[in-house]
Formats: sequence, structure tokens, C-alpha cells
Amino acid sequence: MTRYLGAHTIDKGGLHMAVLRAGRAGMTAMQCFTAIPRFYGDKSTIKPERVARFKAALAKTRIKPANVVVHAAYVLSVATPEDEKWERASAGLTKEMERSSALGVGAVCFHPGSAGASDRSESAKRIAKAIVVALETVGSGTRLLVENTAGAGKTMGKTAQEVGQILANVPQALRARTGYGLDTCHLFSSGYDITQSKQALTAVLDEFEEITGEPPSFFHLNDSEGELGSNKDRHVLIGEGRIGKQPFEWLVQDRRSDGIPLILETPQQNYEIADDDDSPDPYDVKMMKLLEGWTGN
Ligand SMILES: [Zn+2]
Ligand SMILES: [Zn+2]
Repeated sequence: MTRYLGAHTIDKGGLHMAVLRAGRAGMTAMQCFTAIPRFYGDKSTIKPERVARFKAALAKTRIKPANVVVHAAYVLSVATPEDEKWERASAGLTKEMERSSALGVGAVCFHPGSAGASDRSESAKRIAKAIVVALETVGSGTRLLVENTAGAGKTMGKTAQEVGQILANVPQALRARTGYGLDTCHLFSSGYDITQSKQALTAVLDEFEEITGEPPSFFHLNDSEGELGSNKDRHVLIGEGRIGKQPFEWLVQDRRSDGIPLILETPQQNYEIADDDDSPDPYDVKMMKLLEGWTGN
């Protein structure tokens, strides 16, 4: 089995520093932002020098570009029924695809956002339309993946049915360039109990696979501060939340963890690290050791 393990590492000092820190933690996958996640980034282009630094840093690690995931900005709510907001979010998602394609990464993941008071199946169509616009505007090998959400308020993508519905609205010709990924904290807080037994966890993955017609293209490995069904999106270190360690062992040993990025988005210890310090975060190192113990990496 091949397990590509990594984290969303700290990018203080630049994107290339996030890569170097991931490399020094022994990661074979990683995640990053290409722009400030609180903004739309619909006008932000990526400078060639930044791309070059990123690629040079990556070449010093064991991380293949295909196993790098870019997390799109949280504000890109392409589920929204408000036209003006949708236009801007859609433009932001397309621009993200442009930056990420320049970097040559394997995938961009995004949270679909809130349907507000609108009909949820109409919202699924708007999300799919934004995916189509992004894929048609930016032709590249970088895939655009929906992330399941914790289900707070009217957010879309909290069930297998909803993720499936979004993807089903993407024309067949573009389907290979899209897909989805699953976040364990979001699964649990949206009501999927993956803690009861290995069979229970397997059944959840089976459900997503059957309904969407494909296995997930990444996992986010986060323990959950909130209880089952709490819809709370608060990540904690594996073993320090309500999920506990055991389900993560089952998950990384499941066939669906094979060959895809397995990314930690858990708290880090040293957010104020110096810009030029490429030492790995102690919490990331601790989490990597835990995961490697289960995968034999
Ligand atoms: Zn996530
Ligand atoms: Zn989350």
C-alpha cells in the first residue's frame, strides 16, 4: 500500500517555506493556500518567481506535485443564490484554478458554501456551474474537488447525497477533472459516526463511493472538538477530540486511502516561526509519527 501523508503546513515566509517545512517533517503530501483565505482572491495572480521558488522547494522533498492540494479560500460560496456574490465567488474559484495550475499541483479543494434560504438542489446546480466555469476556463491537469462540510447552517455538501448531487450536475466530459474529498471532522460533526467500529467507518466510505460513483480523492485527517452531529467545524489533534485515535487507524488502512493525499489540518505549535526557519512544526511531527505507525511508512 502507498500512503501519501502530510499536513497543511505553515507558510510564514512564503509558500516555498511551507513546502520546506513539510519536507523536513518527512511528508509525502501537503496542503497550502495560494492566497489569503479570507479574501476572494479573484484578482490575485501568481508571480513566476513564486512558482519557481515553490517548484524548487518541492524538488528538495519527497512530495510529488500530484500530492499537493491547494485549499481554496473559505469565502468562495458558490452555493449562494445571490447572483452578484456567486459571480465573484465563481471568479475566485476560477482564479484559484489558474494559480494552482501554474504551480502544477494535483488538486484544489473547496467548501461549497451556504445555500441560504434557496432550494438545495438548485444550489447544487450553482456549485456545479462554478466547477464547470473553472474547468472550462483553465485547462490543466489540476483537479477541482468538493470537500464535505460540517453542515453548519445551510452549508452544502454535508451528506453523500449532496456531494453526489453536486457532481452529477457536472457534464460527463468534465467529470474526470472533478471529484470530492472527505474531512473526518466534518463527517463526524455532520452526523456520520465513524467511531463505533471499523465496519461503521467502512460503511460510510461505501456510501459516499456508491452515491457519487467514485472513491474520495483526498482525506483531511482531523479529530473533532465538537460532538457527533454538532455541526461544529473545530479541528483538534488526533486522539484529543471526540473521534479518538482508533478510527484514524482504520481509515488509513482502508483501500480508499491508497495513493491519495492524506492531509492533517490539525493545530500547530509554532505559528510565529521565523520566516526563514524551515524546521517542521512539533505537532505536525508528532501527528506524522502517529500516522506512520499505522501505515508502516
Ligand atoms: Zn478540511
Ligand atoms: Zn474544517
